[in-house]
Amino acid sequence: MIAVMFGPPGSGKGTQANRVAARLNLPHIATGDILRAEIARGSELGREAAPIMARGELLPDDLIVRIIEARLQEPDAAAGALLDGFPRTVAQAKALDAMLRRRRRAVDVVVVLNVPDEELWTRMRRRAEEEGRADDTDEAFAQRLVVYREETAPVLGYYRSRGSRIVEVDGVGPIDTVTERITTALAQGAPKARAS
Ligand code: AMP
Repeated sequence: MIAVMFGPPGSGKGTQANRVAARLNLPHIATGDILRAEIARGSELGREAAPIMARGELLPDDLIVRIIEARLQEPDAAAGALLDGFPRTVAQAKALDAMLRRRRRAVDVVVVLNVPDEELWTRMRRRAEEEGRADDTDEAFAQRLVVYREETAPVLGYYRSRGSRIVEVDGVGPIDTVTERITTALAQGAPKARAS
């Protein structure tokens, strides 16, 4: 199964994707985590990515698509993956479709975490104190919200127009409750096994 965890910055995508992937026995592939690991390693990619990420802007589509393509070829992703933070533009979604089509696969479900803006700001400020991420500043976060609205939100419209399965979940509440909501919604809408 190829699942996409979708939502604005601060919606809890990473936390929930990690938990849901474990339950579904899928690798959790988070482009933001991959990039932060490259920065920590001091690689060339990391050096290129760091200032762009710190400003709250997006990395070029072709670069991100290459990272995902390589990651999806690793053996642990043979049965699928839970993608987090990708695709973030319609161009990335189209590139993902093309890459999956070559393997006779498709995005099976998009999980959308709905969280109001005030809550996103509260969570970001809490995370800034706890984790000290370079892009958890008021300025970078405002920019990430703009980028989300202008470039990432249309990805959902793209999947809707393709008739993909979309599961919308209320992302406000205790972490366990939100995880339950997601797993329940995924199980409820799962295609039924045909009686034989
Ligand atoms: P995240 O951890 O998902 O919030 O991502 C942190 C930052 O990494 C983003 O604000 C972007 O600068 C960069 N990034 C992560 N995923 C992507 C992507 N799919 N396309 C472009 N940039 C990305």
